[in-house]
Order: sequence, then C-alpha cells, then structure tokens
Amino acid sequence: GITRMRGFGTTIFSEMTALANRTGAINLGQGFPDTDGPGSMLRAAVAAIQSGQNQYAPGSGTPDLRTAIARHQGDWYGLDFDPDTEVLVTAGATEAIAATLMGLCEPGDEVLCVEPYYDSYAAVIALAGAVRRPVTLRPPDYRLDTAALAASITPRTRVILINSPHNPTGAVFDRDELAEVARLCVEHDLIAVTDEVYEHIVFHGEHVPLATFPGMRDRTVTISSAGKTFSATGWKVGWICAAPDLVAAVARVKQFLTFTNAAPFQPAVAAALGLPREYFTSLATDLRAKRDLLCQGLVAAGFDVHIPAGTYFVTADAAPLGGEDGLAFCRALPERAGVVAVPVGVFYDQEAHDVVPGASLVRFAFCKQDEVLQEAVRRLEGLR
Ligand code: PMP
Ligand code: GLN
Repeated sequence: GITRMRGFGTTIFSEMTALANRTGAINLGQGFPDTDGPGSMLRAAVAAIQSGQNQYAPGSGTPDLRTAIARHQGDWYGLDFDPDTEVLVTAGATEAIAATLMGLCEPGDEVLCVEPYYDSYAAVIALAGAVRRPVTLRPPDYRLDTAALAASITPRTRVILINSPHNPTGAVFDRDELAEVARLCVEHDLIAVTDEVYEHIVFHGEHVPLATFPGMRDRTVTISSAGKTFSATGWKVGWICAAPDLVAAVARVKQFLTFTNAAPFQPAVAAALGLPREYFTSLATDLRAKRDLLCQGLVAAGFDVHIPAGTYFVTADAAPLGGEDGLAFCRALPERAGVVAVPVGVFYDQEAHDVVPGASLVRFAFCKQDEVLQEAVRRLEGLR
C-alpha cells in the first residue's frame, strides 16, 4: 500500500462486526439501527425502482432531493440554500467528508479536528496530503477546549473540522463552544467543515448548526446523512450544504470518486425529508429511552458510564472491570459476555500522544430493539 495510508489498517467497525458475526454475540459495536426507517420512505424506494429510476442520477443529486434538503435546512434552522448551487448529494456522509477535505486542502495544509474522531477523518486528511492537528476531548464531560483550539491555529491552518452531536462521545457542543469556533474561523479566515449527521438525535441541550453563527454561512460546509436521520445506513445517502464556491470545489472531487449515487434512494429520501416534524422528534424520544435502558444496565454491570447528550452511542470506562486496555477488553467481550462494543482509544490520534487518552473507554450503540438491549444488559451483568 501507499505510504500515506500506512498506519490505516482494517477499520475497527469491520473487525468488531466480523467478531460479532463469528461469535453470534450481540453487536453493539458498529452503529446501525436494527429497525428500518419510515415505511413511506421504504415504499418510495421500491416505487422508484419499479418505475424505472435505475440509471445514473444527476451528479449533484436528483432535483427533488436537493430541493427537499434545502427546505429542511430552512424549516429547521432558518438557513437559506439554493438547491441548484448550494447542495450536493454524496455517497453517505463518508464521501462528503472525503470529497470536502480533498477538494479544499492543499498538501501541507493543516486541519484542526476534534479527537476522538470518526475514523475516516484521519484517513482522508492523509489522502489529501494534509496534516491533522487534534484537539482532545476528555471524559467525563468531553467539553470542547476552545483555548486549545485557538492555540493550535498556525499560518498553515485551512480547515476546522467539527462534529456535533459527537461520535463517539455523545457530546453536543453548546452555543458558547460553537460561537468560539465560529469566531476563530472568522478571525483567521478558516473554512469550517461540520459533520452534523446526528443533528436529530439530541437528548439534552440543542443542536445548533455552525453555519448559523455570524460570518459562518459562506465559510461552512455542513454534512448530513440520511443513514442516521432515517435509519437507513445501508443506503449511503448523504449531502453537503455550502456556498456555491465551496460546493463547486467539493463537486469537482466527488465527480471522480463516485460521479453519482444510487438513483432510487434519492426520491425516497426526498419524501422522508418531507415527513411531519413528529417523525424527527420521535427519533430522539425513542432513542432517549433506549439510552436510559442501556446506561442503567452498564452502571449495574460495573462500568463507569458517561451519559451522552446526543447520538446513539454511549462511552463507558471499562477499567473497573479490568478493561484498562479497551481494545483487548472488546476483543474478549464476546467470550466473556456475548456482547460486542468498540474501543474508544482507536478514535484518538495515535501519533499525537505519548500515552493515547481514553485507552480504557469502550463505546456501545443503543440504536437497537428494546429486547436486544435488555438481553445485552442481562449478559453484561455477568461481568462483575
Ligand atoms: N460521520 C460520523 C460522525 C458518523 O458517525 C458516521 C457514521 N458512522 C459518518 C460520518 C458516516 O455516515 P454515512 O454512513 O452516511 O457515510
Ligand atoms: N458510523 C457508524 C459508527 O460510528 C458506522 C461506521 C462504519 O461502519 N464505518 O459506528
């Protein structure tokens, strides 16, 4: 393999899902719901397939989907985007992140990112030839250290890459934290890339899009995912909203990565974006009950639990259960308890620390049916 990808082996999600499949353990590792999204959306995809929408869609996405995306940003956040020039549909948020960083960073440019991070961030920063500068979130509350963020800015800094609600910690950055990010972007003329895929999964506080802060509308690339909002991770439909020059730079890369995305899913996601507000609010209400169920079980099992404010992940310290090495703990967990989790240490920058933080933290996903969570909790009680 190429030098730039040295150090990027198999993703932890592939390893841990393979482990779950091999052992038959309950998979609370990789984050995917075990219940499908809205029935009307599923039927719309079937109808699109049966009515012949099976050839290449326009590279920027189908017009109905781009219009629905722009309307959603307006209805929820008061943000006004032109569906023709300011919206780009991508193969999941993952392609959005890749095309954005490759489209906006010159080799040697620095990207400030918040660690622990979704693992594709480091890989695509490396592919872009850019340099990552991590700012560290630490348990128990994972607040954004805006002073550290400010201190990390150099003349080579090009992008601040933010993710809120935050995977894997479940932190939701508040207005003060985000206002400071925005202020730094304006002061230093930086581009903000904001991964907001969990925008509708908030239990405490509120989701405030970074693009809504003064001076940010035209320097922010906002990333969303139908996989998360409509519980269809296998569809791989995501999108960005940004000013025309930024969208053009990202689209220039995207056209050579995938050119276009699965056509029949696009009208289906467009229809889902038009669902009544109750759909979106019930997503969080349902997941809040699941969060509470799993968190109580983890506490009972002996973990030191960090209750998440958003996302469908909870991090827990496994040190009280002998899990000082979270990776080893997770590799052994199927045999010990019949459950799969993912270690959080792997989401911290492996090269930026003498001692990688979060080594004893593990992450559990609770986007599962209640019976599945109850059985997982019952099994984990045996750990003590
Ligand atoms: N960003 C974050 C923070 C995520 O958690 C995920 C999914 N795990 C993604 C991006 C990727 O989303 P998608 O499946 O739409 O590519
Ligand atoms: N976003 C999901 C997670 O964080 C799945 C990621 C993946 O499988 N690449 O678990």
